[in-house]
Amino acid sequence: MLLKGGTLVRLHPPALARADLRIEGDTIVARGARLAPRPGEAVEDCRGRFVLPGLVCAHTHMYSALARGMPGPAAPPASFPDMLRRVWWRLDQALTDEAVYYSAMVGAVEAVRAGTTTIVDHHASPNAIPGSLGIIREAFGVVGVRGVLCYEVTDRGGLRRRDAGLAENDRFLSATRADTQFRGLVGAHASFTLRDASLAALGDLARYHRAGLHLHVAEAIDDEARTRSLYGAGIVERLERHGLLDDRAVLAHGVHLSERDLARVTAAGAWLVHNPRSNMNNAVGHAPIERFGDRAALGTDGWPADMLAELRFAHFREREHLGRRRSHAAAALLQGGQSLASEIFGVPFGTLAAGSAADLIVCDYVPPTPMTAANLQGHLLAGIDPSMFTGVMAAGQWVCRNGVPVNVDVDAVYCRARQLAAALWRRMRG
Ligand SMILES: [Zn+2]
Repeated sequence: MLLKGGTLVRLHPPALARADLRIEGDTIVARGARLAPRPGEAVEDCRGRFVLPGLVCAHTHMYSALARGMPGPAAPPASFPDMLRRVWWRLDQALTDEAVYYSAMVGAVEAVRAGTTTIVDHHASPNAIPGSLGIIREAFGVVGVRGVLCYEVTDRGGLRRRDAGLAENDRFLSATRADTQFRGLVGAHASFTLRDASLAALGDLARYHRAGLHLHVAEAIDDEARTRSLYGAGIVERLERHGLLDDRAVLAHGVHLSERDLARVTAAGAWLVHNPRSNMNNAVGHAPIERFGDRAALGTDGWPADMLAELRFAHFREREHLGRRRSHAAAALLQGGQSLASEIFGVPFGTLAAGSAADLIVCDYVPPTPMTAANLQGHLLAGIDPSMFTGVMAAGQWVCRNGVPVNVDVDAVYCRARQLAAALWRRMRG
C-alpha cells in the first residue's frame, strides 16, 4: 500500500515533513518525496492530510469498560483504599470470561476510534483467572489493535489466586515471546498487597522471561506508609531488593514518590505512566511529571483509551498546578508511549520511518492558523480530534475508517455488552 502526499507528523521532538509511505505487511518499508505506485498497489490519497503515528495507551484496565455509569456505593468511600475495596475489587470479582471478552471488545473499539493502536492493559478477574489474557488477546485480535497484556498478581485473594495469576502471566509471556501483535509484562497490583514471597516469585518470572513488571506505584498518599508498616520497607526499596526495578518496569501513577525514590526510579530507567483523569477522579493528588524524566508515558487507567483527551487533562491539570511556571511538553508523554512500545516489540513506533511499525492515523485536520513543528502541541490541544481521523492503521491493516471500526459489528458488541454490564452490576450488589 502507498500513502501519497500526506504531511507526516512526529510528536516529540515535534517535526512535520511532506513524504509518501510504502507499507508492506506490518511495516513501513519506504519513506520518500515521490514514491511511484507499483502495479496492483493500493494508493491512499493523503494530500491535504496529516499522518500521525498510532497512539499508545501505556496503562489501563479494559475491564473498567463495563463499569461506565455504574451506580456508586451507598455512602461515599472514606479513602482511596476504601474505594478499591467497595468498588473496584467488587467489580473485578464479579467478572466472568464473557464479561472480560466484551469489556476488551468495547475498550478496543473505543481505542481504534481514537487512533490508539497499542493498549498496555493491566487485567484482574479473580474468579476467572486462567485463560483471561488469551480472552483479551482474542478480542483485541478481532478489532485489530495491538496489546501488551498482564495479569494483576496480588495476595488479596489468597495463595491459590496469587499462584493462578503468576501462572497466567507465565503462560501469556511464553505464548507471545515472538508475537508481532501481542506481548506480555509481569503484572502485579501494588506493593501493599504483595508479600515478600510474592515479590520474589514476580522477580523470578520477570528474569525468566526477560520481561518488565507492570505495577501501581505510590498512587495514593498512604501507599508508602502502608507498605512500610506491613513489610518494614518502602515501595521502591522492595522493588530493588527483588530485582524488579529496571528499565523494563512499567510503573503506573508515581503520584506520591519521595524525591529520593523518584530519583532511584528514573536512575534505574523504569517507565513512569501518568494517568491524569484517573488521578483527578480519585482525588489522589497531582503527579510531579516535571520530574518524571524522558521515560514517561500517558495512560488512561480505566478511562477510554482516547490519548488526545488524556493529553488535554495532563496539560491543563499541570498548567493549573504550575501557575506561571513553564509546563512540561505534554506531547512528549505520547511519544514516550510509542518509545515504550518500540522497546517491548523490538521495532520502532512513533517515527513513520522506513523500518517502523505501520501503525498510523490519517487525519483530515485543516489548521485555521499556520501549523509548524514549533506549535504542534497547540494544534494537538485545541484542534486535532479523533472525529477528523479518516483512517487508523495498526500493524499494516486499516482498523477504523471515518470513525467506523472495520472488523467488528459495533452494534452487536455494544448490545451484548449492555446485557453483560447489567448482570455484572447485579452480581456486584449481591
Ligand atoms: Zn491502574
